[in-house]
Amino acid sequence: MTRRDLILRELGLVQWRLRGAARTDDAVLPDASRGARRAMVRTLPTAAAGEGERTIAIAGMDWMQLKASVQGCAACPLHARRKQSVFGVGDENADWLFVGEGPGAEEDERGEPFVGQAGRLLDNMLASIGLRRGQDVYIANVVKCRPPGNRAPEAGEAAQCEPYLLRQIELIRPRLVIALGKTAAMSLLRTEASIASLRGRVHDLRGRALLVTYHPAYLLRNLPDKAKAWEDLCMARELMAKLKAGQNIPT
Ligand code: URA
Repeated sequence: MTRRDLILRELGLVQWRLRGAARTDDAVLPDASRGARRAMVRTLPTAAAGEGERTIAIAGMDWMQLKASVQGCAACPLHARRKQSVFGVGDENADWLFVGEGPGAEEDERGEPFVGQAGRLLDNMLASIGLRRGQDVYIANVVKCRPPGNRAPEAGEAAQCEPYLLRQIELIRPRLVIALGKTAAMSLLRTEASIASLRGRVHDLRGRALLVTYHPAYLLRNLPDKAKAWEDLCMARELMAKLKAGQNIPT
């Protein structure tokens, strides 16, 4: 096993390579990101370096470097059709992290996650348990660029974006992660299991608690399941109280 393999294993990271994908490292960043780019030049591997090194570089980034890297990312084909990447929004020290699938048309336009119809429902879901976007809450997505036609991200696209989400989680250090829908659950828990079978219990995400619930866009199409999402939110609120009280939560 090479040293790089050992580091990756230590970090709990998998190595991946998307055939034919462009590399992030060569991405051109806008002028506003020049400072961050200078910092990244020291951090990111050259185009010739392996994908594992890109993963390691991202795992060591601070917020500024990470934002600049996402902004200029060209690691998967999604970058070609985006208006802008959608990094994530909220309190960078939040106890709560909500993870969705990927930006839609409005998010691509505005550069913020969950600002369309599904976003309005998410805001209402947050309000129902006394939370507000940006106040002890961070919202991110599995992929940072809009999949065309609002399709679900492909596995390779999610894999290329995974180091960014994992770094966001490491930097935020949320007490509780809520996976919104199948794509987020699949990506974070590495499972193909249904939402129905995953909800209602606490999962472990690298030592953090994670709950699964329905994606707001799904709930807009399946109104009866809103009651189940409400149950999940109540469970999340109770779990957070226990986590804040320092209780040990079996997963
Ligand atoms: N759906 C998502 O999963 N994320 C968004 O940002 C918007 C809609």
